Amino acid sequence: MRIIVADDDLGSRLVAQAAVESLGHQCVTVADGLAAWALIQQSPPEVLVTDRAMPGLDGVELCRRVRAAEQDGYTYIILLTAYGDPADVLSGMLAGADDYVTKPLNPIALEARLLAAARVTELHAALAETRAELAKQAHTDPLTGLSNRLGLAADLQQVHNISERYDRSYCVAICDVDYFKRFNDIYGHLAGDQALRTVAATLAAQVRDADRVYRIGGEEFLVLLPEQSVEGGRVAVERIRGRLEDLAVAHVGSELGLLTVSVGLAGSSPAHRLATSDLLAQADAALYDAKREGRNRVVVAAQLVTP
Ligand code: GH3
Ligand code: MG
Ligand code: MG
Repeated sequence: MRIIVADDDLGSRLVAQAAVESLGHQCVTVADGLAAWALIQQSPPEVLVTDRAMPGLDGVELCRRVRAAEQDGYTYIILLTAYGDPADVLSGMLAGADDYVTKPLNPIALEARLLAAARVTELHAALAETRAELAKQAHTDPLTGLSNRLGLAADLQQVHNISERYDRSYCVAICDVDYFKRFNDIYGHLAGDQALRTVAATLAAQVRDADRVYRIGGEEFLVLLPEQSVEGGRVAVERIRGRLEDLAVAHVGSELGLLTVSVGLAGSSPAHRLATSDLLAQADAALYDAKREGRNRVVVAAQLVTP
């Protein structure tokens, strides 16, 4: 563990450092609370051992700041209190300390507390890993490995905000597999799943690095194209549509005899800014038109004329 020891008393610092290092941990010592705070802001340690009374910033205020600034990680805080005054201990624990050791500092007492700190730190690290894994799973579609609707919601808002701030354009394309119910009926559900993976992989392979692909429904995908005009977006999704046709996955239930997609494309530009929900609704309406006009085609949303 990386451990910061903050104490204005040189003797205590040395005792604490010896205890920390005897357990094989990395020790950084500082002589006042402000220096400790500066270090913690740069990189929060696993453990902070801090004197309660220090010039500049005392240990209680330091505890408060550490807790207020904490995000994903956790810093285990051990407070050093003179003679273990119960009122001092209580205010320190209320401010966010996890444990305390009374001064004059006994190295064995501190080592014992550091053993507990190591266990808690390990638990926090395991918890953070599990949390990150769960968050990733919640945003991922298990069949195709693409991001799902949850991932889209976050990314779309971000792309929208950037486009507004920097006066940029962006597009969304909703791609829906044609006659997919029939595909399942003819070839079976497993073949249907495989076809969805093929479509997903084709979409992902055909887009630029900055573009993102999502599975937003059973056989419905969305391509988010940041920094792209509708004209540019149209070229990109037309290429994707053509590429899937060229793969020539047999589908005897469609007019062409091949697996194809219909695409509805809508864009948001500085001259024609849309709320994200309206942009999605426009792309959806364009997709509906593409289906109606015969499928296996890209239709661009009719742009609203600003009054
Ligand atoms: P259209 O050309 O108008 O889009 O017709 P469609 O048959 O593709 O559309 P519809 O919405 O009627 O049917 C979609 C089908 O997609 C129905 C459903 O069984 C199938 N589907 C949805 N999710 C999955 C999946 O995860 N795996 C498989 N194999 N099929 C799925
Ligand atoms: Mg369909
Ligand atoms: Mg559909």
